[in-house]
Amino acid sequence: MGSFGKTQNKPHVVCVPYPAQGHINPMLKLAKLLHFKGDFHVTFVNTEYNHKRLLNSRGSDSLNGLSSFRFETIPDGLPESDVDVTQDVPSLCDSTRKTCLPHLKKLISNLNKAVDIPPVTCIVADGIMSFALDAAEELSVPAVLFWTNSACGFMCYLQYRMLIEKGFTPLKDSSYITSGYLDTTIDWVPGIKEIRLKDIPSFIRTTDPNDVMVDFVLWECERALKASAIILNTFDALEHDVLEAFSSINNLPPVYSIGPLNFLFKDVTDKELNSIGSNLWKEERECLEWLESKEPNTVVYVNFGSVTVMTNDQLIEFAWGLANSEKTFLWVIRPDLVAGENSVLPREFLEETKNRGMLSSWCPQEEVLDHSAIGGFLTHSGWNSTLESVCGGVPMICWPFFAEQQTNCRFSCHEWGIGLEIEDAKRDKIEKLVRELMDGKKGEDMKEKALRWKELAIDAASGPFGSSFLNFQKIFSDVLLF
Ligand code: UDP
Repeated sequence: MGSFGKTQNKPHVVCVPYPAQGHINPMLKLAKLLHFKGDFHVTFVNTEYNHKRLLNSRGSDSLNGLSSFRFETIPDGLPESDVDVTQDVPSLCDSTRKTCLPHLKKLISNLNKAVDIPPVTCIVADGIMSFALDAAEELSVPAVLFWTNSACGFMCYLQYRMLIEKGFTPLKDSSYITSGYLDTTIDWVPGIKEIRLKDIPSFIRTTDPNDVMVDFVLWECERALKASAIILNTFDALEHDVLEAFSSINNLPPVYSIGPLNFLFKDVTDKELNSIGSNLWKEERECLEWLESKEPNTVVYVNFGSVTVMTNDQLIEFAWGLANSEKTFLWVIRPDLVAGENSVLPREFLEETKNRGMLSSWCPQEEVLDHSAIGGFLTHSGWNSTLESVCGGVPMICWPFFAEQQTNCRFSCHEWGIGLEIEDAKRDKIEKLVRELMDGKKGEDMKEKALRWKELAIDAASGPFGSSFLNFQKIFSDVLLF
């Protein structure tokens, strides 16, 4: 070790996000908060592939402007690819789980040898990068797992073992997916009164007893028990019953809800820190100017996140649903949103909507959802999108794609009263729901509720007594600095 200067006494956190947009975003916020509020030295570990994409999207060759907030990389174990697309989820889960640990250990050992960096004192890893727990164990430092999904989603993942034992999954054959079987309700999930099988994270819809994703979930949930603590980006008022029910789960470490990080993060005023972005696609900011020209609550915002893939037929149904609703819209179509082909929107659609529709390929979503012109959000119900919508006080139309998006959709529509579900993505249904959201009585009620949830979210993140504000302080004193 080098000589102990001032920086050598700082706590040093190594943050290990799962390498996808919806995981990097909240982890980067948390890392910045630890740096800003806790004076931590931060090492943020990206995969080589994503780090290249982060730099590309910014047109820069380094993110290491700050000496005490550094980016490092490890390989993700997948074959080299220079195509700028979302990586296949099952392959990436399998590969990170099986190949990343030695690279992380080596990186940490190098950090601990460096003379100008304080020794690593704790690790915060994504809930599905739990191999990092082994690196922490070797160093005898605390390791916190940050599950970046909802509490309801996490709780349902924790039930996968039981769902197998009770014979609910794997499905006997694929007809079970369409036969109405998934409408079966269960009432034994802690903290959730009743839930349909179709609202449980979607990986249970398999007939394969060795399904990679089910196996992965079982593994990660088992590993969660070994963490010093678990962090969730949610807040007590929103998911009270589920959060409380975690204490009934044997051997689960303490769970700290510290969300919405968007609001906690508002206190971070360091310009240099704030300039570190996390977009994997190049952000197009023109839409913000366009929104400025629109009346309050008049624009439908449409975005399906970073992983959803749809068919061109579905894209066309959404297009005509939007066009026929006659509403103004901002629609973000990621370059790889449509499976295996380039998205092609009908010329008639473009012609018909040219004065009231704006298309973009990647936008500053949080700012968009915070804009007064946005009246509703047609979303895939990713957890970040859902929470960002809550923070913007914006009601939603939900078209969940996969994973715990189904659970988020269920809670948005039935528990929180701020969502309408698209069961079948056909143009007339989409049109009807968009009209209901923007003009209908239900839409009005949902808007009121969304604004109420926004207030509660602000309260949770505000000092000195907000639940997330206090939990954030507790995680410092009880775990990270312990
Ligand atoms: N996002 C963004 N611009 C876009 C689309 C998405 O900044 O055009 C961000 C969004 O704000 C959110 C994340 O990407 O923080 C997507 O995460 P989410 O959990 O909603 O969905 P996922 O991409 O994981 O399916």
